[in-house]
This record gives sequence, structure tokens and C-alpha cells, in this order.
Amino acid sequence: MPRPITATLHLGAFENNLQVVRRCAPSAKVWSVVKANAYGHGIKHVWRSMAQTDGFALLDLAEAIMLRESGWQGPILLLEGFFKAQDLALLDRYRLTTSVHSDWQLAAIAEAKLSAPLDVYLKVNSGMNRLGFAPERLHAVWLKAQQISNIASLTLMSHFATADGPQGVEAQMATIKTAAAGITAPRCLANSAATLWHPETHCSWVRPGIVLYGASPSGQSQDIADSGLQPTMTLSSEIIGVQTLKQNDQVGYGWRYRAEGAQRIGVVACGYADGYPRHAQTGTPVWVDGVLTRTLGTVSMDMLAVDLTPCPHADIGAEVELWGRRLPVDDVAAAAGTLGYELLTALAARVPIVTEA
Ligand SMILES: *Cc1c(COP(=O)(O)O)cnc(C)c1O
Repeated sequence: MPRPITATLHLGAFENNLQVVRRCAPSAKVWSVVKANAYGHGIKHVWRSMAQTDGFALLDLAEAIMLRESGWQGPILLLEGFFKAQDLALLDRYRLTTSVHSDWQLAAIAEAKLSAPLDVYLKVNSGMNRLGFAPERLHAVWLKAQQISNIASLTLMSHFATADGPQGVEAQMATIKTAAAGITAPRCLANSAATLWHPETHCSWVRPGIVLYGASPSGQSQDIADSGLQPTMTLSSEIIGVQTLKQNDQVGYGWRYRAEGAQRIGVVACGYADGYPRHAQTGTPVWVDGVLTRTLGTVSMDMLAVDLTPCPHADIGAEVELWGRRLPVDDVAAAAGTLGYELLTALAARVPIVTEA
């Protein structure tokens, strides 16, 4: 038998979550973001469950080609554009839409030998200061791009830094409005947080990622509790060992947990080499044998310890959910000082994936 750890993908949840996005942004088309191998789920397992989308967005050329070769015929957007001029041959061959954020990319497109012109997303830096043309240059860049016969269509793109927090999108929206004055191109601005919480950003296309996987853009599970979003991944395992501690017995590497009295603990077949966060402290929520309990001590590479006090009947073989349908990934992430994004994308290759409807 293999180790009893499994990541179960709930395919129906993808369909549901895409419908939630459609209800939030009824007049926009949807780029479903499947970068980082569909946020750790595996593009090949999940893309068909989102086939009602208008397009898929990602940033790795190999992932784009894999998606194309597995049968997706609709639009694919490269969120970071292309990385070298010679990549344009592949963009041409696989009919990929590209973002363009730097002058060299425009020049490379102008000079390329293509079988058909490309659809281009011109990216403006409206305050994130990651990728994009300076706002005061946008108009000139747009005029120049319009002259390039290798470009079939132009869409304006930008990305929000604080759409999930109190600072919102107002300042960046004002920057975009000024920079894009007089530019008659469709716009694509909204990530998940803006799709859920800032309808004024929706425009022609939205680009949600994390909400399609049923996790919260803010990292707070209560922020999406009433949204209708459903988790798409349940990471589960089993108890493979039980210890009965006496008062002052200590647990795990560094002896980071000390029993205050007699106590049963379970040892779970899941560790940081499976993608469980090593920084999760004693007290991180975990679901064992039907009840919510807590982790104890340091997470090891292949195992972690849980408190069996609330589930005295749990024994070897008892079911454990690390995150998923009964326990939001965001709650585990919060206890480890990170976000659901990081836990989902860090799921290790050694964890077997099973899919269910
Ligand atoms: C990752 C990403 C998204 C999706 O972000 P979420 O917060 O997961 O919705 C959208 N646009 C760009 C450019 C991205 O890099």
C-alpha cells in the first residue's frame, strides 16, 4: 500500500466557482487563471471542468502548449508575455495571446515572421510596480502598437495591488483612467478580489484565479463564507501512529510541545515534503475522525502530530483532513502566517491526486 495521503480534486466545485464569477461579473468575459499548474491542482486534471470559460490565462509556455495539446481550442493568455524573441514562433504556432509590458517585446513582434497577427494585451503599470509601461507612456505605446501589422487586436491590461484590502482599487483606477484617456481598446483589470468586491473594475474581461479554487483573495476564509464558492482540493491522510503521553513528555523535533497532563496524540502521514507548511505552529486546526482538533509541535518532513483529546476513539487508520471541504485552506494558512495561495501551489508532486465529480 502507498502512504495514505491523497489530494482529492472536486471537479464540480470548479464549475460552481466559475458560475459564481459569472454572477459577480455578468457582462465581462472570463480569463480563468491556471498559472502554477492550476494553483497546484494540475492543469490536465481540471481544465475541462472550467471549459465554459472564455479563455485560460497562465504564464509558462510549456503549460500553454500542454493545455493546447490536451484539446483546449479557445484563447490562452500569457500573463507575463514572452521571455525571448524566439518564443514568438511558439506563440504563432499555438495561437497564444500575449501580454506586452516592455518596448523590446513590441519591437520583436514588429520584426517577427508570423503566419497570422497576434492578439496583444498592453500592460500598464498603474501602481503595482511589477510589470507594465509607465502610465504617462501608455498613449504613445498604444499609437505605436496600432501601426504594427503583426498585431491583430489590442486590449489594455493592468493589475491591482490592494483589491483585497482597505486601500481598494481607487488610486489605481484613477491612474488607469488618466493613462487610458482617448484609448478605445477593451480593458482587462480585475483579479479575484476585484471581481468579487469592486464591480467598477470589471470592464470587458476579468482575470480571476484563487476564487476558482474556492479560497479567499484576502487569506481570510470568512471573507468568502457567503459567496457560494466551494473548495476544489481536499488534502487528506490517516493516523499511522498513536502515543500516550505523561505530564511533561515532549513531542517532535526541538521538543516544541510539552504535555500538561496525560494525553493521547496521533501521528499523521503528512509533512512539509507533502506541501504542509512547516511554520504551522502548535494549535493549527486539523480535522481528525469527525472533529476539529489541533496540531502539536514541529511539522516534520513526512509526519505531524495531532491532539486526540477531543476524539478519544480515534486510532490508527482514522481519517485526517489537513484542509479542504471541512477545513478551509485559508484557516490552515493563517496559522502558518501565509495564504491559501501558497499552500495550494506548494502541494508536492509526491502527493497522489484523485479526481471526483
Ligand atoms: C495571478 C494573477 C491573476 C489572478 O490573481 P488572483 O488573485 O488569484 O485572482 C490575475 N492577473 C495576473 C496578472 C496575475 O498574475
